[in-house]
Amino acid sequence: MPAATVEKLEDRSGGMCEAGCGRPATNIHHRRFLGRGGRHNLANLLALCGSGNHTGCHGKAHQGNPPDGWAISRHERRHESEVPFVDLGGRSWWLDDEGGKHVRPAVTGRS
Ligand SMILES: [Zn+2]
Repeated sequence: MPAATVEKLEDRSGGMCEAGCGRPATNIHHRRFLGRGGRHNLANLLALCGSGNHTGCHGKAHQGNPPDGWAISRHERRHESEVPFVDLGGRSWWLDDEGGKHVRPAVTGRS
């Protein structure tokens, strides 16, 4: 993975797990797994806690039923920047390939 990408991810996360668990980030997770054609673009990456992909939030991302946007389905055709990531606090985030991360406003009404 390019060092510049790792650096931008560290800037975005502030070194903390982006799932919002409060632990330091120790892993880089690919939301679209590499085995599903995922790449090292920032919208596809999350800084998560855990040891390998077995424990912590990285482990959670690789287990059966992770929260929305943690593990992108092989059937999902949208770019990762169009698939929001929902953290442990229930907030939805849009990630982009430039290192941006924006809260998705809560839906307040029906239309
Ligand atoms: Zn975590």
